[in-house]
Amino acid sequence: MTPASGGELLRAPLFHTPRNPFREARALESYADGGLLIHEGRIAACSDYAALSASHPDAATIDLRGGFLLPGFVDTHTHFPQLRILGGLGRSLLDWLERCALPEEARMADHTHACRIARAFVRSLAAHGTTTACVFGAHFAPATAALFEAAQSAGLRMAAGQVLSDRRLLPELHQTPERAYRESSLLIDRFHRQGRLLYAVTPRFALSTSEAMLEVCQTLLAEHEELRLQTHINENADEIAEVARAFPGAPDYLTVYEKFGLAGPNAILAHNVHPTNSELERLASSRATVAHCPSSNAALGSGLFPMKRHIHAGVRVALGADVGGGTGFGMLKEGLQAYLLQRIAPDGMLLDAGHLLYLSTLAGAEALGLGKETGDFHAGKSADFVYLRPPAASPLAAVLEREQESERMLAAIFTLAGAESIQEVRVAGTVVYRSANAERR
Ligand SMILES: [Zn+2]
Repeated sequence: MTPASGGELLRAPLFHTPRNPFREARALESYADGGLLIHEGRIAACSDYAALSASHPDAATIDLRGGFLLPGFVDTHTHFPQLRILGGLGRSLLDWLERCALPEEARMADHTHACRIARAFVRSLAAHGTTTACVFGAHFAPATAALFEAAQSAGLRMAAGQVLSDRRLLPELHQTPERAYRESSLLIDRFHRQGRLLYAVTPRFALSTSEAMLEVCQTLLAEHEELRLQTHINENADEIAEVARAFPGAPDYLTVYEKFGLAGPNAILAHNVHPTNSELERLASSRATVAHCPSSNAALGSGLFPMKRHIHAGVRVALGADVGGGTGFGMLKEGLQAYLLQRIAPDGMLLDAGHLLYLSTLAGAEALGLGKETGDFHAGKSADFVYLRPPAASPLAAVLEREQESERMLAAIFTLAGAESIQEVRVAGTVVYRSANAERR
């Protein structure tokens, strides 16, 4: 399709959450016969098709009815070297790390292999509608560079970083703090703020990082502007007990990171399944985000995420698919899984489709400091979106043929849509994924 000078006007039912549904009523906006006007890679307007068509007669209409437009998904926690260990069921965190994750991560030393996995990983993100992701790189700098290059050539928005550790993993995964500083600095110079890329300082978790390594992280954050930080916290009871032994002076897990200034508004801390009330209060006042990874929490038996405690304390929460502790790449599936786990959690929150969409889109964009750039269809934002069109004979197609009420339609999409329903994905108006089955238009 060739964009006309007046831009492209995409016609389809559309949904987005320009507001936070945990704080405001009517955060979900939808148009049953919607129009999304795109001009030079940006959203020019989002409204009813008829109104937009009348006010923008120069725009070229593309009729996408039969499918649905959603903002591009934002995955705030995932690991590229773990692509091939998805499906490793039956273990708990520390055992899974030792038997499944770490040996596979060691293979990233082979650069040809790392490049291949990086490309496959980025392709999988796009194929699931994820346009922005915060990704753990590898422990090796060249493999981490391969991830950045793959994201750059695919056109995805990505924050990533070399994973830093100097103890308790496999020796080949360890760096000295000096080497970590040197290699991370080079990667930052090469990739940070290049196009859609951002660098995230990435200490693996408190157990595998000495105080000297955490100090390197603090130094990197002080030396460069706008770096993000990603790590893990309070995932599993055994892990928390070991952290307490490794840092005897720290009253809780968060203190280990706070001591080095690592838990600020640019930080995404994955899991936080077992926080204390004091940790929640401090996370709220520091404006750090917790990446909730419901599939991973269930698959590794880590526990039920206390969402209500996070929300009531004012902690920012977004979603992560957590490849490979999780069960895949789909952010729709993570939204559904968050809903399901909150249904059975002892003090769970009843989430509606608007909450799920916000958690999978704008919440993640805000976590990454990209809330002004992506995450919903607000005019002026980058045209990052997913076009879903369920296969003709699918259960989702059957439900949507009958269902007319917008929130129930969106709930059905979260419940039933998988990668087979993702037909086209764009970042800044440019196609980053198109399904082989996409209908020619
Ligand atoms: Zn993780």
